Amino acid sequence: MPNRIASPSAIIAGGSIAGLAMGMMLRRRGWNVVIAERSAQELSGRGAGIVTHRQLWNALAQCGVDTDGKDGVALLERVTWRPDGSVALRMSHPQVMALWDRLFSLLRNLWGGEGYRLGCELSGVRQSPGSVIAEFADGSEIEADVLIGADGIRSAVRAQAMGNAKPLYAGYVGWRGMVEEADLPPAVHAELFEYFCFCLPPSEQIIGYPVAGDGNDLRPGHRRYNFVWYRPADAATTLVDLLTDEEGVSHNLAIPPGKIRAAHIAALREAAGNILSPQFAAVVRAAKAPFLQPIFDLDSDIIAQGRVALIGDAAFVARPHIGAGVTKACEDAVALANALAGNSNVPEALQAYQRVRLPEGKRIVQRARDLGRSLQAQMVSDEEREAAILHHTAEAVMIENASMDF
Ligand SMILES: Cc1cc2nc3c(=O)[nH]c(=O)nc-3n(C[C@H](O)[C@H](O)[C@H](O)COP(=O)(O)OP(=O)(O)OC[C@H]3O[C@@H](n4cnc5c(N)ncnc54)[C@H](O)[C@@H]3O)c2cc1C
Repeated sequence: MPNRIASPSAIIAGGSIAGLAMGMMLRRRGWNVVIAERSAQELSGRGAGIVTHRQLWNALAQCGVDTDGKDGVALLERVTWRPDGSVALRMSHPQVMALWDRLFSLLRNLWGGEGYRLGCELSGVRQSPGSVIAEFADGSEIEADVLIGADGIRSAVRAQAMGNAKPLYAGYVGWRGMVEEADLPPAVHAELFEYFCFCLPPSEQIIGYPVAGDGNDLRPGHRRYNFVWYRPADAATTLVDLLTDEEGVSHNLAIPPGKIRAAHIAALREAAGNILSPQFAAVVRAAKAPFLQPIFDLDSDIIAQGRVALIGDAAFVARPHIGAGVTKACEDAVALANALAGNSNVPEALQAYQRVRLPEGKRIVQRARDLGRSLQAQMVSDEEREAAILHHTAEAVMIENASMDF
């Protein structure tokens, strides 16, 4: 017998940024909400850097997060370095760089302990005209007015209720890492640290920017430099090799940071010296634990069905160049809460949400695809080749990547 939550009520699968933003939006409107998170451990203490936008701070404010929109390292300029270490272009572009963990913790602390269940994995969904029942891996069930899938790129809610949108590998990976500010050589620190920096070797791209140190420490000398180095990796060969650990176990789609083979990290450091500007090469070499993220697109044709809706990465995943992941997740939450507030008929409200956010999700995914074309291992069509040329100049990359107007 499912545990029925009193109306108006919502179950949210996934307790990361999208799930918490959604929960806060609904709870502030008087809804009874349970957030079910698969991970048995709290998510805090993980993640790396996030490029923020005005839209993100606006959405967080609507969730009740009280910041002045400056909760990170404020930068004024973008710089592109040529591989020989000279400046290709400088551009004024004020922007705040935050930590994923800081944004998560702001929402998590606001939510508190009640109604946030760890180790709670959604495994099934049943709908009736008057309610929806979420089934969990431990055999428990919860019944509510609406079920919201905030359970990420491999969403179980999506698989159960919306058919078969699948993540598509983009043909390249992002090597990510962070370096303590104090570990950077002074000359490199002076050239990189106060800027959002880029370097564009053929078919590759590295970006870097400063973020807070441990515990959101923003004091000069205590911050970190965060980088993402995009490198083509053929799906059938290079990617499989990168995802195979020291024991010969081949990981599917993602490899835990501690499992990456030492030889791959050594090869990355060596390639940095051959391919990147000297400033970025020094950053990559100084990173103690670089980790790997294969890049995917997820494009959906449906994000609402009956009493079930998808938000955040469960609905759409755009490549990171556009810097939209966290912002889109929070904007989805705001839009869905507004739709539910505007119509007490839940299925109609979810359709209204879909009419607004489906085209926006598709637009963002396409935009990010265009920005990432030049990094793909293979480009098959003329359009892909044209987009690659168009979006790989220093000027285009600095104007278009992670900018305010995605
Ligand atoms: C620990 C962590 C660190 C991250 N760090 C960064 C970062 O540094 N930079 C960056 O750009 N992005 C990062 N992300 C991704 C970023 O949060 C998302 O791209 C974006 O914010 C959209 O968030 P989301 O909540 O939709 O998805 P996600 O953040 O992916 O969260 C999905 C959540 O759903 C949970 N879940 C999955 N399946 C189930 C299930 N069946 N039942 C219940 N729960 C389930 C997962 O455990 C996860 O907590 C991170 C995500 C996580 C979880």
